[in-house]
Amino acid sequence: MHKEFLMGNAAIARGAVAAGLNLVSGYPGTPSTEVLETTAKVNDGSIYVEWSVNEKAALELGAGAAYSGARSMVTMKQVGLNVASDPLMSLAYIGVKGGMVILVADDPGPISSQTEQDTRHFASFSKLPCFDPSSVQEAYDMIQEAFEYSEKYHTPVLFRPTTRVCHGYASIEVKDKEEYKVNKPEGFVKDSSKWVIFPRLSYNAHIHIEERNVELSQVFSDYKRNIITETGDKGCRRGIATHGISYTYVMEALRGKNAPRVFKVSTPFPFPEQAAVKFLEGLDEVLCIEELDPIIERELTYICGKYHLNTKILGKLTHHVKTAGENTCASVAVNIADFMGWEKPAAAETEAPPALPVRPPVLCAGCPHRASFFAVKEAMKGKKSVFCGDIGCYTLGNAMPLDMVDTCLCMGAGVNITQGIGKIEPDTNCFAFVGDSTFFASAITGAVNAVYNQADMTLVVLDNSTTAMTGHQPHPGTGRTMMGEVVEKVSIQEVLKGVGVKTVETVNPLELNKAIDTVKRVSAEKGVKAIVFKSPCAVLIKGNKPAVIDSAKCTSCKKCIKTLGCPGIVFRDGSVTIENSLCTGCGLCSQVCPFGAIGGGEDAE
Ligand code: SF4
Ligand code: SF4
Repeated sequence: MHKEFLMGNAAIARGAVAAGLNLVSGYPGTPSTEVLETTAKVNDGSIYVEWSVNEKAALELGAGAAYSGARSMVTMKQVGLNVASDPLMSLAYIGVKGGMVILVADDPGPISSQTEQDTRHFASFSKLPCFDPSSVQEAYDMIQEAFEYSEKYHTPVLFRPTTRVCHGYASIEVKDKEEYKVNKPEGFVKDSSKWVIFPRLSYNAHIHIEERNVELSQVFSDYKRNIITETGDKGCRRGIATHGISYTYVMEALRGKNAPRVFKVSTPFPFPEQAAVKFLEGLDEVLCIEELDPIIERELTYICGKYHLNTKILGKLTHHVKTAGENTCASVAVNIADFMGWEKPAAAETEAPPALPVRPPVLCAGCPHRASFFAVKEAMKGKKSVFCGDIGCYTLGNAMPLDMVDTCLCMGAGVNITQGIGKIEPDTNCFAFVGDSTFFASAITGAVNAVYNQADMTLVVLDNSTTAMTGHQPHPGTGRTMMGEVVEKVSIQEVLKGVGVKTVETVNPLELNKAIDTVKRVSAEKGVKAIVFKSPCAVLIKGNKPAVIDSAKCTSCKKCIKTLGCPGIVFRDGSVTIENSLCTGCGLCSQVCPFGAIGGGEDAE
């Protein structure tokens, strides 16, 4: 063993590798992304690593590997599990041979997600064991244990760190290479009575799962990470039940205090019932401090009823702690002070940091999506139109002055939302914007549906040749894999034509007039038509020729600022100037200026 300073996600990856990982697949999504990326980085070639087109594909791949006796890990964020939930529910019945860990990172806050959904619900819904680490060290150790439980009970298991565990850093004890487990998969052994999900088999599997989970609840009651801690006052008849990163906040708030009993729940499903009964013994009141949903609170309330325990359970359901958002050290300290009748902790006396400049989320300077949105906006001026957005950087097209995202639901949904609006309002020009990675992830089926059901809409694919929002991961359109191979690109245009979209045009949005003409022409056609706006992500190309404003020609009309909102153009000391450190020289603003005052910009028409 030796010490290393690691990010939580890196620790999880390293733990999985130490556990004898053979295959990892996933779809990028904050806060889970670095787990797969770290595995790829430390891979000695023995592990197959894949960014799949979406979470469903990733999970099915991981299942196939685990059927063959491999140890597999699948990574995603909480909303990704919705996409993977179809195979997940059936896989729970079929089970696995090799250890299989499904890592789903939850995002309380939410900091970078559409929802605050709690994966612990999916554990009880799918009836799969779930592990909930509370620190970087525990994440490293626990994922190795999760593989052991998975293999022992022939079931996939869920592993659900939250953002602060995933992105926190700590100096932790890690294994030396010689201590790593080596897992040599036996290979797939044919047995249709095991691997083919017939109704009869499912019925028997259901019986088995229910029995197994009763056993696991017992086993988890003795699991060393479901901890009951007497923190000082043995006569105290109050307790705190908690989990994950909140456990760390609780212990911090109780430090140096004559304090109550604490129950840390590391396996929210199957709930460690006997450990809970032991914790509740002799307590009058328990405060549950958890993030996202009141899972522990409901379980303890149920257990009190089942065992006729006269303990009052408080938490989110009773509004003794906030019902949404992240916990913090400070919020937990206040919750505990309220509960214990202690004086509220004084706010830390630190010098207030200087106020940050107001910086609303905005597309990067030089982002080609700005040009795409602007082209559609210009082409549709004065026409009744709706612009359905999707998940990715381009969701920021909703910001002023572009204001080009009227709806956004979940990955790939924009295509069929557009179709729905169009069916009700046939006189509306319906546009669906989707990024290239999202297109492959889940918009293809939407396109098929729209064609088959004779929608009248324009599908706009914003192809910047990367998965920009999560850190530029490859996808089928980029022509490379996570194993470093250069492969044949899957053509978005050919896919669209293949599913029956008759008109598919490709244009560089930075050639503004051409882009506007294309939108006018293509959108006027009937049926489903597509425009692929193709131009690389501004972060990946280094512009070296910033635009320049000719102050003699500039009238300070501010059209460039008011219509584009590019952070590279600023109004300073009474005049409009270009911020050289930001400008990529995309040339969009020079095509917008009515006075020809903007020159330079290497891509200008
Ligand atoms: S050329 Fe104009 S639009 Fe393009 S990045 Fe520079 S300032 Fe922004
Ligand atoms: S649009 Fe042209 S004239 Fe108007 S402020 Fe910008 S650079 Fe100056």
